[in-house]
Amino acid sequence: MSDFIPPAKPIIGDEEREAVDRVLRSGMLAQGPEVKAFEQEFADHFKLGRACVAVNSGTSGQHLGLLASGVKAGDEVIVPSFTFAATANSVALTGAAPVFADIDADDFGLSPESVEAAITERTVGIMPVHLYGHPAKVDRLLEIAARHDLQVFEDAAQAHGASLNGQPVGAFGSFAMFSLYPTKNMTSGEGGMVSVANAEVERLVRLYRNQGMEKQYHNEVVGLNNRMTDIHAAIGRVQLTKVDAWTKRRQENAAFLDANLTGVTTPPVREGAVHVYHQYTVRVPEDRDGFAQALRDEYNIGSGMFYPVPNHRLKPFVSASHPELPETERAARECLSLPVHPSLSQDDLERIVTAVNALAEAGA
Ligand SMILES: *Cc1c(COP(=O)(O)O)cnc(C)c1O
Repeated sequence: MSDFIPPAKPIIGDEEREAVDRVLRSGMLAQGPEVKAFEQEFADHFKLGRACVAVNSGTSGQHLGLLASGVKAGDEVIVPSFTFAATANSVALTGAAPVFADIDADDFGLSPESVEAAITERTVGIMPVHLYGHPAKVDRLLEIAARHDLQVFEDAAQAHGASLNGQPVGAFGSFAMFSLYPTKNMTSGEGGMVSVANAEVERLVRLYRNQGMEKQYHNEVVGLNNRMTDIHAAIGRVQLTKVDAWTKRRQENAAFLDANLTGVTTPPVREGAVHVYHQYTVRVPEDRDGFAQALRDEYNIGSGMFYPVPNHRLKPFVSASHPELPETERAARECLSLPVHPSLSQDDLERIVTAVNALAEAGA
């Protein structure tokens, strides 16, 4: 059988290894000059026009961003249920309640109508997820937020470089979080980057990251240790120089799949949206699980299900309030992410097309 095609493949080169070695030789491993440089370079690279703060994971970034934005026990934050659990976890860890709203079929992001229907007098914010690398409808969510005096927080974990109407994701909300986990579009090993709209929130994220201190032993608030190490920042700085070429490859791979797949619904791209294809997600309306199994067993091709169990069905959140979530339920049943990562060869892409088309035809 042909070689296994993995669903994701982090790319680490000699430049990353040399950068890590440089930090190890310096003897200064914890947060220092590499982190500082990485924060500035990240903000510049993605043209965010605002400050960035590096932390030890995307989840930490989301948690600290929410704390710094004043989200607290008794508050509600509207989130999608069709996302990774970190989105709702970070809200719940502040003491606030995540309230789930439905998604739209045309971008897998929060539905503005469903969000508006979920607003109560406790609602303080809306946290859209730019799922799979496609920007959510942040423009419409910002309008709703303005009308109800709410904040918008972006989960941009999967969307480095994506944009909506020419504006980069991460530059819309009060803060945004980018994940730097190995399978994301770029990595620092583990890590997260928080972009912040205002200087006071930025200062608070920096305080919470470091035990509540800006100056040693002048603790101002209760804080955590969520610092990024210079070792990780050094990896991230190198990856920043490569991410645009990888994104272009993802987009080219997606264009090939769009043009050649039949029998499955290919991922939509809304007008004005730049999709960075963290995942290339198709819909398989009948027996998605059997389809994925056959792809693996008969064709040696990996795929991913993001997310088969929506958050409102996860044990910690079963009692959370939410309206009907029909598009969430349907997506959880139908979605299958095919390999789209930049390491795919033309031969790999052709194998994926042949396999998916054959299985779709057999199932039809
Ligand atoms: C990966 C991810 C996170 C969390 O990021 P970590 O760096 O793994 O903590 C949050 N939200 C979404 C949508 C993600 O995909």
